[in-house]
Amino acid sequence: MGSGASVSEGARPGRLDAGEAEAEPGRASTPAGRSDDTLQVNACHVSRAAAEQSQRLNPRCVLCPQAEEEAVKPGSPIMEVRSLKSEQSYTHKSGEEDRAAHTVLSPAETVAEGEEVSLDFESFLHNNGTLYSCFNHHGNRVYVDESQNLQPFPKEWYNQGRFITANSEGSSQLQTPASSQPVVREDDRTGSIYIQGRGTVMTYMFEERVNVCRFWDPQSGVWLLLPLQWEINVEFVKDRVQRVMSTLPGLVDQKEITAALRQCNYDPEEVVSVYLTMFGEILLQAPPSGDHNYADLNSFRALLERDRVIEDLRQKLQTKEKEVDSLFQRNSYLAREVRYLTDVVQHLNQKLAELEADQQEAREKIRSLLNRRAPPVPPSRTNTKPTVDPGQLQQVSRLTRELNVSNKQLRSTVHQAMTDMKNQLEQLKGAVGKLAQVEQEAAGEVEELRSLYRREAVERKSLYNKLLELQGNIRVFCRCRKSPASSSCLEKTDNQEVVVVQKGSRKKFHFDKVYPQSSTQEDVFAGTLPVITSCVDGYNVCILAYGQTGSGKTYTMMGSKENPGVNIRSIQELLRTCAEKEKVSYTLKISMLEIYNDTLNDLLTKSPSAALDIRVQGKSVSVPGLTQIQVQTEADILSVMETGEKNRKIASTKMNIQSSRSHLVVALEVESSDEVSGLTSRGTLTLCDLAGSERISKTEAEGQRLVEAAAINKSLTALGQVFSALKCNALHIPFRNSKLTHLLQPCLSGDAKCCVFVNVSPDMKDVVETLSTLQFGSTIRQVSLGKATQNIVPAKNNKSAKQTTN
Ligand code: ADP
Ligand code: MG
Repeated sequence: MGSGASVSEGARPGRLDAGEAEAEPGRASTPAGRSDDTLQVNACHVSRAAAEQSQRLNPRCVLCPQAEEEAVKPGSPIMEVRSLKSEQSYTHKSGEEDRAAHTVLSPAETVAEGEEVSLDFESFLHNNGTLYSCFNHHGNRVYVDESQNLQPFPKEWYNQGRFITANSEGSSQLQTPASSQPVVREDDRTGSIYIQGRGTVMTYMFEERVNVCRFWDPQSGVWLLLPLQWEINVEFVKDRVQRVMSTLPGLVDQKEITAALRQCNYDPEEVVSVYLTMFGEILLQAPPSGDHNYADLNSFRALLERDRVIEDLRQKLQTKEKEVDSLFQRNSYLAREVRYLTDVVQHLNQKLAELEADQQEAREKIRSLLNRRAPPVPPSRTNTKPTVDPGQLQQVSRLTRELNVSNKQLRSTVHQAMTDMKNQLEQLKGAVGKLAQVEQEAAGEVEELRSLYRREAVERKSLYNKLLELQGNIRVFCRCRKSPASSSCLEKTDNQEVVVVQKGSRKKFHFDKVYPQSSTQEDVFAGTLPVITSCVDGYNVCILAYGQTGSGKTYTMMGSKENPGVNIRSIQELLRTCAEKEKVSYTLKISMLEIYNDTLNDLLTKSPSAALDIRVQGKSVSVPGLTQIQVQTEADILSVMETGEKNRKIASTKMNIQSSRSHLVVALEVESSDEVSGLTSRGTLTLCDLAGSERISKTEAEGQRLVEAAAINKSLTALGQVFSALKCNALHIPFRNSKLTHLLQPCLSGDAKCCVFVNVSPDMKDVVETLSTLQFGSTIRQVSLGKATQNIVPAKNNKSAKQTTN
């Protein structure tokens, strides 16, 4: 932040905060405690949802009668509104108007010498659905209109919408008196558990759409969702977990079983059958002792088993394909043989015909000779000498006999040869027929194997996805920036907990992982690694960095050349995963844009055209006109990103803005096509370095700086609102309240996996911002997205593929 630290103690308006953040006992004495107020915001969300659902499904179970009643009250912020002296002075379109704005908003008028007060923004949600950023100046409220101009806040609007601030939502609407006791029926679903730091609290198993276990929080006077860690100790749940464990001794992680029970509406039989289906008989045996992560291991083992089955199938497929090949070869060899033998038979037939002709000729000769031997002349008296020599005659008749014999022999030989040949031909024909049949069978088997392979591949993906879902679709990591200062406001107690120490009070926050100052870029990247595979599998994946300027967002996301951050590493991992899969071809496309003052700027074009807009078609969100560049290697991607960075610098210099005042979004679209199964899928990896979340101080609050601060406030508030709505399973998620959330919609709704880094500074002077950043992170952590769906389309019909970015 600028020169001085903000001293405002109040909750940051427009920001949604953590309900999960635990407070130390005694914290309640903090004056105007930010944490108290903020806790109520979430408590109200929960209580409203709980009240509505329980009223709907269990009319006799009256939980928070006040909640119902007060939910219908319009927001009634009490504020003094004085009319503006000159409405014109608040707009700043032209130079003159700009000057006017400067005069009116001059810090000297409002802030006493040496006093540094931060400017508090409010967000006003108009009934028409638009979210406006507002703030007070000289007791007059102004708002930032659609064209980023400051306008006096219209009086009539007070009845046309409501302010989303911690105070108005938390205190005036849904609060139930802390002393009130819940009204519930006494049955086996009523229970109580002891929670450290809170004492014994009451639990009740609600019959909602699915059963949800909540506990009564007397402090905020609402039913809060029981965290998994606590839920394990509820009798109702414990009993069911035990039942699952006794059936499946292989399952030892009670937390995992509890999570599974939640998914299966607390039906142990269903959990057992789901696990048996997923992991098979292996769970029927007890795990080897000392194996703490057995359940997790099992998931991985099942995954490995799937991989092995796929590998087996692939090999079988290959052998079958080879068999078919050799059958084809044999078939063509036999066909050649048949042709050859047919030729031989033909040739022999010819020979036979020739021989028969010869024989015929010989017979003719013999007949004529015989005729000559005995001429049909009448006996004459004259004693004439016989015309033929008897010796010659004898010779001829011997010859004839011999000829006859050889003729017979020849005939029988030919006949024999013919019969043999015919037999052989018959056999060959039979063999060819059989071969064709075998070939058909083999082709059928190959097709079967192929479909098996396809199914296994899809199941592997869904199994992997389930594994990730078990860990949560939104994962929130906290990273503390390295600081040379010796005193730090942050203490890391374990891998998942961080404590903020401020003026002797301690406040704990929990995250999926807390990265201390000493953590390396590799450590940090390891947390996001599992979701990268998910992107290759066709899911939308998003990695966000949130925090005040200077807290290490850009360092975490981009890093330096020598020590790259999550961006480069995830892209490297993506390319590596793609290269690993031989039978799958991938197309990668990259786009890069900046959101400044709620306007999208393409960073990959030299000649930026008119401002980009977001288009929605069904569930897909696209940005028509946004440059997308196809990339193949890491070098391609790096050079594209360098271009984008350069363009960002040029644009920011031209417009005189700092890069920390805009959101940077890098989107990588991965389209895959599996050659074996024919399936195609499309996932997007969205990497987002958000603008600094800090409040601006009143001394800096003028002109452009004020407008951009309002835009940042609005977009981050909208982001918080989206997470909050997701947390309540609200029917309407207000994605359209800002360009940022609208653009990120595909990464934040059902389809997606999201990793959020909350970057914090350990410096004492930043403690207020650090607290508010951690509270934001805690809120997000309570969100679990709906069941993810893969963007998979069957082969030849990929027109209906979901599109995430243009
Ligand atoms: P932001 O993007 O949130 O404004 P930066 O990433 O620019 O913050 O970080 C501010 C400064 O702190 C940079 O000089 C950066 O190199 C340094 N820095 C941030 N985090 C770390 C870290 N974990 N280790 C070393 N230096 C860091
Ligand atoms: Mg930065």
